[in-house]
Amino acid sequence: MKYYSTNKSIPAVSLMEAVTKGLASDNGLFMPERIDVFASDFFRQIPEMSFQEISFRVARQLFGEDIDEQILKEIVYDTLSFDCPVVPLNNNIYSLELFHGPTLAFKDVGGRFMARLLAHFLQGFEREVNVLVATSGDTGSAVANGFLGVPGIKVFVLYPKGLVSDIQEKQFTTLGKNITALEVDGTFDDCQRLVKSAFLDQELNDSMVLTSANSINVARFLPQSFYYFNAYARLQEAGIKGDLVFSVPSGNFGNLTAGLFAKRMGLPVNRFIAANNENDIVYQYLKTGKYEPRSSVATIANAMDVGAPSNFARILELYGHSHTDIVTYMVGYRYSDAEIRGTMKKVFIEENYMLDPHGAVGYRALNADLKAGEVGVFLETAHPAKFTETVENVLGKGTVIMPEKLAEFMKGEKLSIPMSTSFSDFKDYLLKK
Ligand SMILES: *Cc1c(COP(=O)(O)O)cnc(C)c1O
Repeated sequence: MKYYSTNKSIPAVSLMEAVTKGLASDNGLFMPERIDVFASDFFRQIPEMSFQEISFRVARQLFGEDIDEQILKEIVYDTLSFDCPVVPLNNNIYSLELFHGPTLAFKDVGGRFMARLLAHFLQGFEREVNVLVATSGDTGSAVANGFLGVPGIKVFVLYPKGLVSDIQEKQFTTLGKNITALEVDGTFDDCQRLVKSAFLDQELNDSMVLTSANSINVARFLPQSFYYFNAYARLQEAGIKGDLVFSVPSGNFGNLTAGLFAKRMGLPVNRFIAANNENDIVYQYLKTGKYEPRSSVATIANAMDVGAPSNFARILELYGHSHTDIVTYMVGYRYSDAEIRGTMKKVFIEENYMLDPHGAVGYRALNADLKAGEVGVFLETAHPAKFTETVENVLGKGTVIMPEKLAEFMKGEKLSIPMSTSFSDFKDYLLKK
């Protein structure tokens, strides 16, 4: 399978090249040339399959032309050493819990899958590969933990100083080995800009191999489609019928785009809800047809504080740049911090279910929009303990129980390198490495 750039000014590349490059050299995002639809048999069988088995089938459908089947199976099973349960709430709403991985955030799947795939591709490769990843909190931890100790790969995590939670920071600044944390004196958008500039800088690319582990990388975002197939399977298995609607709390829109791919592969999804915090660029686009990226603002759902959602180009591409088509399958909502807090509180009291601030955005949009005859699934993207301070501010001290996995990270010592927002500083630093 070849991967083309959404900017269409370079020839299509192999999967290996798309994964090792991350961003296309014309600044576009890689897209697979075809999306193959599953035979209907598959959907009859999946209620009996495990998350791991389903994911392997989906991975084979996506990547099977380019990787030996047995190796791909090992990569998938090794990536998914955890579950992805569907938890019922009231009013036909289900929480798809994506936080059972090692860093308790949904990005573990993409981070681990990509690390394993890249390690496979790099066997026999002479040069070291440098993974650059900009994070607003959760990507850094998932990617860093996914790549920890993988030979031949160095990871640089760029994060905005003072804008990630203590727990998030500990998850990527305490690891050591092949992981370096760069504490940028700016916002997430500055971090993302530094990374993008590095990929486009000829001198840097001549002297070192650089790739991205943000959701611009096909190996990071595409595996997230596994979740949607699993949700469908678990609902079918439980005998729950109805038109399926997914509500996706979104920032860079990698997760939602993976859902659109699942639909293209034949998964019976009726429609998607794009749920934003105050960084409502896509919400505005859906309403007006105008896409106007702007600087991000800080919210309590900080993993969604994105002012220029990088996967938007893929959404446009999937729907032939037609706003009319996009709004047929997608509706947008946006919520303020006060509304997010209100939802966390209400659901905790009325349904005895603890939402993290991101999941709360997804839940609220779904609850507002679900129609009769539909079954709604919102993606609960992080464990509430990742945002203990915010959650306890809303629900009360002592309500959040810290899982053992997280407590372990808190014991480590923070090590980071201060970095300005100037690209020349960042470039000098990398060149000296
Ligand atoms: C990354 C993240 C999101 C947003 O996901 P995108 O794929 O960037 O849209 C939402 N919630 C949490 C907890 C995240 O870490």
